[in-house]
Amino acid sequence: MSRKKNAKHNHGKNTRLVHAGRDPDAFFGLANLPVGRVSTIIYPSLEAYENPNHKFRYGRVGNPMSEAFELAMSELEGGYNAITASSGLAAITTAILAFVKTGDHVLICDAVYPPTRIFCDETLKRMGVEVEYYDPLIGKGIEKLIRKNTSLIYMESPGSGTFEVQDVPAIVAAAKKRGILTMLDNSWSGGLIFRPIEHGVNVAVQSVTKYVGGHSDISLGVAVADTEKTYKILKRGALHLGTCAAPDELWLALRGLRTMAVRMKQNAQNALKVAQWLEKRPEVAHVYYPALKGDPNHKLWKRDFSGANGLLSILLKEAPKKAVSQFVNGLELFPIGSSWGGYESLLQPQSLEKCRSANPWTEKGACLRLQIGLEDPEDLIADLERGFERFNKNR
Ligand SMILES: *Cc1c(COP(=O)(O)O)cnc(C)c1O
Repeated sequence: MSRKKNAKHNHGKNTRLVHAGRDPDAFFGLANLPVGRVSTIIYPSLEAYENPNHKFRYGRVGNPMSEAFELAMSELEGGYNAITASSGLAAITTAILAFVKTGDHVLICDAVYPPTRIFCDETLKRMGVEVEYYDPLIGKGIEKLIRKNTSLIYMESPGSGTFEVQDVPAIVAAAKKRGILTMLDNSWSGGLIFRPIEHGVNVAVQSVTKYVGGHSDISLGVAVADTEKTYKILKRGALHLGTCAAPDELWLALRGLRTMAVRMKQNAQNALKVAQWLEKRPEVAHVYYPALKGDPNHKLWKRDFSGANGLLSILLKEAPKKAVSQFVNGLELFPIGSSWGGYESLLQPQSLEKCRSANPWTEKGACLRLQIGLEDPEDLIADLERGFERFNKNR
């Protein structure tokens, strides 16, 4: 796989999605790289083992599938190189552990993906790392929180559940002044509609399980490093922790990548329709979706993002539990599910009171996250409308 071949011209992102990580010449002209299931790589002699004529030593450390996907994601994100992991969370924890040490202070976005928060609160604190959460809308105010021992500023934009868009350039500028590493969970954008490395972020992490996979059938994560220096530290972290990904998942992720742009565009178009309809519903106190003109994050989103996706949340007006259950349980097209980024619509109740500390969550109504899939949006709206009828009957 030659990086040079892929980088011959400065192609647009849709072209990159189609071609990144492909090298048909290396495999008899096959358009797609065949899945290479591998642990063992064999050598015919001691000399060949000592001076191998191919670049892979052992499946976990690197193999044709991982290399292809890592190069593709690096190209998409505009980074140097990447590591892959068996899940988004494994990519995140590997990346954090590769860079932080006992005695460090780390600043973590308050709207971070809840399992990332649990990792920080339990594992990082157990290692003697000071964890501090900051308001996702802090912008350049982050400067005031930086201490002598701050080693990492971790962002997630838009934030989980409530989709606050962070002022990434302002936060990165403050970090750079003090030589602090920055990391950003870029799952929402799939690496496509927001490019944190272009804004100076050092490591872009992502749950590939979501939009890149796109079909609710894989578990995979990636962390892309901005430079060779960052990559070397990240890769050592992955080697120490045994972080790696299965070739079948990598293959499915490469397949997902080819159609991500069109899927996401449709998800976003459908979601905007549903969000605009939800905004007008009297049962809804707030719709969280940065692509909505009335969303408080709209301006920053417009400045930094080139598109949206199908993920939004609604805050229902305060109502008895029974009304919320009747709303949720009768929906035909929104099964309850913890993921997003797939072809189908899903609903997940949020427990934001458990995962906000810089900005404690005080809303009394139920907050529900909706993943808007590729169904006909009119059907989704009609399903939600019937849901509100049930909701109102039980209030
Ligand atoms: C789902 C998710 C993750 C974790 O990804 P997994 O592949 O499920 O481990 C990380 N960050 C965000 C924002 C997510 O939504």
